[in-house]
Amino acid sequence: MSWASRAAANILPLSREQDDLAAALHEWRYTGDYHDLETPREDCELCEHADIRHQFEIKNLHTANTLLVGSECINRFNIAATDEEGRTLDADDTRKKIAKDRRKLIDDARRRRLVKALVALAHVDKAFNIHSFIDYLQKRDAFMPMQVSTLLWRFDRLAIDHNPRDFKLTIKRSREKAQLEKMSEWQIKRLLPCLSPSQRAYIEREGLLPQT
Ligand SMILES: [Zn+2]
Repeated sequence: MSWASRAAANILPLSREQDDLAAALHEWRYTGDYHDLETPREDCELCEHADIRHQFEIKNLHTANTLLVGSECINRFNIAATDEEGRTLDADDTRKKIAKDRRKLIDDARRRRLVKALVALAHVDKAFNIHSFIDYLQKRDAFMPMQVSTLLWRFDRLAIDHNPRDFKLTIKRSREKAQLEKMSEWQIKRLLPCLSPSQRAYIEREGLLPQT
């Protein structure tokens, strides 16, 4: 069965239109509700694509039936999204909304992993002041270079599961720049996975990391 016939078999019984897939799809809207299952483990309820991690809810305007589907399916079947006032968005704005919601899901997951690693560290390292770090994460969503350097060192030393790419660094203020300038080469090298492309360019420009 093709993805279109699978979709028809799944969506027609839940729609007012009973025969024509394209007509039935017009009755459905992306509601703006989405979930992160943390691991890819569900099937798309529309096309039956396996191992969906991010579920997006679509709802029928007439029957109020709902389905949890992958974001690709919403784009592929041209299902329109609605804005906060319930107005239907055009194809362009729908795509933008879905991309934005996907980014938010990914970013929220990143923050959850970070908090989990910080809590694990606080359990084994009593000298570690977790509150100031959580505070920083909530207020700025980014850490100063010395904070990240210290954290990565502690995570490695105490074998705490973490992903350096989950960190965001801020090097806007002079205090933060001064911290980088005082660091040794191995410390800066350790920060590289956390840096954005423009931050890497800054480090190269300032000659903080000799070219290898
Ligand atoms: Zn699908």
